[in-house]
Amino acid sequence: MVVMKRVCPVSGKEFGVAETDREFYDKMGVPVPTLCPEERMRRRLAWRPSRFFLRTCDGCGERVFSYFDPRLTTVVAYCEECYRSDEFDATVHGRSYDFSRPFFDQFSELSRVVPRHTSNAIQNENSEYILCGHRNKNCYMADEIDFSRECFYGYNIQKCQDIVEGLYVRDSEIGYRLVKAENCYNVHYSRNVFHCSDSAFLANCRSCRHCLFSTNLRQKEYYVYNQPVSKAEYERLWGLLFGGDRTLVAKAERAFGEFALRQPVPAVLQNQCEDCTGSYLTNSKNVRDSFCCDNCQDCRYCWDIHFSRDCMDVNIYEGELMYESLHCGPQAYENRFSILTWHSTQVTYCLELNNCSHLFGCRGLKRKQYCVLNKQYSAAEYADLSVKVIEHMKSTGEWGEFFPIAMSPVPYNQTMAQDLLPLTPTTVGEYGARWLDPLAPDAVVAGRKAPERLPAKRPVELLTCVETGRPYPVTGPEWRFYTRVGVPLPMVAPEARMRRLWRTLGERRLYDRRCAVSGEPMLSTYSPERTERVLSVEAYLQETH
Ligand SMILES: [Zn+2]
Repeated sequence: MVVMKRVCPVSGKEFGVAETDREFYDKMGVPVPTLCPEERMRRRLAWRPSRFFLRTCDGCGERVFSYFDPRLTTVVAYCEECYRSDEFDATVHGRSYDFSRPFFDQFSELSRVVPRHTSNAIQNENSEYILCGHRNKNCYMADEIDFSRECFYGYNIQKCQDIVEGLYVRDSEIGYRLVKAENCYNVHYSRNVFHCSDSAFLANCRSCRHCLFSTNLRQKEYYVYNQPVSKAEYERLWGLLFGGDRTLVAKAERAFGEFALRQPVPAVLQNQCEDCTGSYLTNSKNVRDSFCCDNCQDCRYCWDIHFSRDCMDVNIYEGELMYESLHCGPQAYENRFSILTWHSTQVTYCLELNNCSHLFGCRGLKRKQYCVLNKQYSAAEYADLSVKVIEHMKSTGEWGEFFPIAMSPVPYNQTMAQDLLPLTPTTVGEYGARWLDPLAPDAVVAGRKAPERLPAKRPVELLTCVETGRPYPVTGPEWRFYTRVGVPLPMVAPEARMRRLWRTLGERRLYDRRCAVSGEPMLSTYSPERTERVLSVEAYLQETH
């Protein structure tokens, strides 16, 4: 039940605050938000860098992979080794709180001297070129990747092997261009596929084997265009598709796109969910207005979290009682307005912590308690001071607001905000954000387009992206994958490949529309203009089972 309506000062949109929202805000000790949910999301995501660069570690001087553009002179960043070293102790930058100045100004000053981790990639083997990854081997150019081997390009890849261009792929092996796939083996060019194998060009399929160009199938084998075929016919088609011929693949892609447009689609993707709104949700209860979450309960306005409960406005990772936070976990508890806190409890306005608790306005601390602006206090002093800082922040209008976009050290177009809520160089200023044009390539090369057919030898020269004109390599491991599966070389550079995956995932927004079967009103990620036959979850289940 909506108990309050507010108008967002940024978007001008009216948004409602439900009774349960207000209970949550009271529990977290925070005021009702001033911005609408989408602008709060934008503000958080503008703090999540998502581009790949090489830069120099400000500790040891090594050239390392990073999500910070080397041109960002206000960012001090340490490589994994320097960051983890006991010699790096950010309490040396501790300072007293100044009640005559705004909190965010003081936090900004602290931020300019405390190093960040260059990539948030830790404990990986032969995987120097990944971001936010943990325990991977032989992986590169992937972001949010854990416990995986030989995976290249993508976002959110968990426990996988041999996945190239994957977005939300889990427990899968050998896959090319997959968007939302779980427990799949040898599946390519597919989206929303679960427990499938030896298949390609599938959408919304479960437990299928040896299927091609099909949608909405359950437990089928040897199906093409949703019709049964002989084993020989399937094998003939597979042989053609995976002979490394781009023209054939492009034709197949177009034909499947046209076929899929005529098939029913579920309004949202929810699997084993109860009382949820949103899409790409699994095994969750009372999760509202959220996307790409699994095993969650009592959450709202969350993206990319799992095993979490009692969270609002949270992106990426896991925890309990979190509000307006980004990339916190594992086991985050009572995190407010914080970013990248690992194993941290009761922290507010903090950035990049490791095993900490009871901190306010701190940055880069490890195993610390009771600090404000990185300065150590006793438990009693901390309790007293943090209350006074909150009162001060209320007087400056800062309390309850996430770190402003303008304070983010990363230009908007180098963040996940640009990936998911894009702006242009001309509109970015209206949001207080910055834009930085991409670096020119190191050298102008007389590159050439990827050949039509998979060549017999790996091209050693750089290829030229047909979308952006930027050069890109085909590495040895990547080449072996393409050859093994039989797919043509990509024609676009890695960034354009990521954009293609995000487009396939679709919008993370809910529209009011009506079920094509029952005419009942429902929420869907398909906007009313979309021509697909969009079915309510119930009607969809009836048609596909
Ligand atoms: Zn270093």
